[in-house]
Amino acid sequence: MQHTAAGRPGGNRFQALGPNRLDEIAAKYGLDPQLRESVRLFSLVLPFRVNEYVLSELIDWSAPDADPVFHLFFPQPGMLSPEDEQRLTAARDGGDAGELARTIAAIRAGMNPHPEHQQDLNVPSDPDGPLPGTQHKYEQTLLYFPAAGQTCHAYCTYCFRWAQFVGEPELRFSAADPARAVAYLRRHPEVTDVLVTGGDPMVMTAERLRQHLEPFLAVESLQTVRIGTKSVASWPHRYVSDHDADATLRLFEQIAEAGKTPALMAHLSHPVELEPAIARTALSRIRDTGALVYCQAPIIGRVNDDAAAWARLWRAEQRAGAVPYYMFVARDTGPRDYFKVPLARAAEVFRDAYSALPGLARTVRGPVMSTTGGKVVVDGVAEEPGAGRFFELRYLQARDPRLVGRPFRAVYSADAAWIDDLELAPGTPADIRAAVAAGQD
Ligand SMILES: *Cc1c(COP(=O)(O)O)cnc(C)c1O
Ligand code: SF4
Repeated sequence: MQHTAAGRPGGNRFQALGPNRLDEIAAKYGLDPQLRESVRLFSLVLPFRVNEYVLSELIDWSAPDADPVFHLFFPQPGMLSPEDEQRLTAARDGGDAGELARTIAAIRAGMNPHPEHQQDLNVPSDPDGPLPGTQHKYEQTLLYFPAAGQTCHAYCTYCFRWAQFVGEPELRFSAADPARAVAYLRRHPEVTDVLVTGGDPMVMTAERLRQHLEPFLAVESLQTVRIGTKSVASWPHRYVSDHDADATLRLFEQIAEAGKTPALMAHLSHPVELEPAIARTALSRIRDTGALVYCQAPIIGRVNDDAAAWARLWRAEQRAGAVPYYMFVARDTGPRDYFKVPLARAAEVFRDAYSALPGLARTVRGPVMSTTGGKVVVDGVAEEPGAGRFFELRYLQARDPRLVGRPFRAVYSADAAWIDDLELAPGTPADIRAAVAAGQD
């Protein structure tokens, strides 16, 4: 049983609040009726889940429309295209449940829930066939999706994994237990990192998490156990006051005692997420176990397309002993147009924020696109007399390791927002051209 049992609202027990609690939320926090009804409509298509901590500690209810965390967690007007919004309204008002369900499914299908071939590419095999719930894209790192970790403490409206939450079974992608992944690692000693992801693995109880992680500790060649999570922002109680908070930290210690490095990949979007004392307490308790904390998030319109916010966030992370790691570009999925930040703008935000950092926080890299061929960073914009402006690009990670670290260029565009909007500069080497093209189909 996950810790979703009914708790005292406002108390310290985790309780997921979904669309059926919307009236209560609106009444308690004074949400405008029109906005409330928009949330109700859009949450038919987009996953909606918040919790009392997010509502009471992170959102400024005096102006939710302008609040970054409100945009992060509440589906709202503009997130669907006007046509889809119209279809959805008509289907809801039509009163035919079958028609409504078909309309919702059709709109979701148009939202590209598995961008960049997430589902079919990179799934490794053993003699029994493909390994469910794993991906092996970069030589050193195996991704592992535990079945019980496929939800989150709150759902981000831009999430490319939302398909996993809305119960469409063919879109789910997870492992019931790690036995086959462990056997795979024994045959692939080049894999030094396992990256446990979801959803959010930290929704699991300590006991369940132990069942998934412990078997990996016996693999000699494995050096690092990484866990991707937003819980530091969306439910820091997980490390402080949950009934098994101590058992969870003990598990991190056990990973360290087994000679592996535990590393939390903390998804932090905005500096307000580190303002509550409990979030900073969570980080310090995690660090006390010997675990490293690396921080990453996508740059999202209306949430954090703001250099001052990133500079504050990265400074706060560094002050908490965590490592600023990646600024991602949001993928082509979900309410993309609503959140889209052009690459030129993202590069400018990154540079402005980065240049305000102390050297020790300049560990962060970005803006980074995670594409079919690999992770491409936009290093900046170069001007060449007579030739015009170019994006300076580089693979930080690639399926083909020979591509990593070689600079290449694309013609500058103020609007391009993803790799498939880019035109490579004349003279780009054929192997880089091919890897980029693979991300463009
Ligand atoms: C980002 C990513 C990783 C981890 O990459 P690092 O650069 O090592 O953090 C591993 N696998 C996949 C598929 C990824 O997208
Ligand atoms: S926490 Fe991560 S997996 Fe969960 S909704 Fe947000 S982005 Fe998606």
